[in-house]
Amino acid sequence: MHETRDLLDPETRSDSVLQVIRALMCRSGLRTELARRTGLSIASVSTAVQKLLDDGIAHGGKKEPVALLPAQGVAVGIQVGTRQVTVAARLPHWPRDQVRLLPLAQGLRDGGAWIDAAAVAVADLVGSIGRGPGDIATMGLAVPWSVDPRDLTPSPPAPWFAAPDLHRRLSARFGPVKVVVDADARLGALNEQTYHHPFETLLYVEIAEHVLGGLVIGPRMLRGALGRAGSIGHHSVEPVGLDCWCGKRGCLERYISVPAVLEGMYVSTRARGEEPPASIGDLIERARNGDPDCRWALIAAARKLARALRESAVTLETQAVVLGGPLAPGLRLVAADCEQELRRSPWTRHMELRFAQPDAAAHGALILGLIGHLR
Ligand SMILES: [Zn+2]
Repeated sequence: MHETRDLLDPETRSDSVLQVIRALMCRSGLRTELARRTGLSIASVSTAVQKLLDDGIAHGGKKEPVALLPAQGVAVGIQVGTRQVTVAARLPHWPRDQVRLLPLAQGLRDGGAWIDAAAVAVADLVGSIGRGPGDIATMGLAVPWSVDPRDLTPSPPAPWFAAPDLHRRLSARFGPVKVVVDADARLGALNEQTYHHPFETLLYVEIAEHVLGGLVIGPRMLRGALGRAGSIGHHSVEPVGLDCWCGKRGCLERYISVPAVLEGMYVSTRARGEEPPASIGDLIERARNGDPDCRWALIAAARKLARALRESAVTLETQAVVLGGPLAPGLRLVAADCEQELRRSPWTRHMELRFAQPDAAAHGALILGLIGHLR
């Protein structure tokens, strides 16, 4: 059985062979599909695949999908949020539906304690795959802020919890494993791009304590020189609205982030002498059970989001929007209202609205670990 770290060693393989190995670790596929995902020519992919077949690293006929043969080391992805962490692990030759996942009820607000909990979760998952602590080959980390590609610092620095050295602290914890890091929304977008991506322009929006976007344009992820491309959370939806920490006014994040939605409900329910929802899950559950105020809070958030999507679509011609994060299940309840809002404008009339699995960014982090970095 091949060792995952050896397969990914840039010293021993040509660039095109390495690119094809990385693509196969993300997902097996036909040669044409591998060419599309790597950006290599069909001829280069075919040459690289033949080398992998000859070396007993992959298998697959000319007209069949090419797949990696079993490898030893485990790929790990970790998504850290303010209140929760999700750990994902799989072997590189396993398909997506075999990923082992473990959600943890700790996050950045708990200081460094989440790192200990994540380390235990990683060990548990690696053990459940039949591997040991020394078998962790790659690790990707999804963080709730944009990451500056030059020095991996938060970009711009958010006022809460942002820790520029998080990936280094995690690296120190896991020994020789290099941890690669990027914004959760970009990694949600990477998950979409890898597993279900028929769109020319796709915007992934993560809505939690923050609101971040990740952009896929054609076969490429768009990062921006400072890592801020797709920052939909700071589109102004109220010209004379609430001040935002970023220095602008009326930013989307001030209205549809989880704390903003809960705060709005707190005021209105307290005014009626009722108990406000304790969490966003509680609010969504009440809306699902017919509570008109909770449903209205979600509709108001959906309309604000639609407004920002309309504005951004004028420049980007966004074809599909994928919503992820803790508010997404609530927005799914009122998807018809959001779609109605989008249909009102010629700029968003054809926009497809989709909803991500709750662990999309953790899957994306696992893929990031395998590919090393995002272009
Ligand atoms: Zn802002």
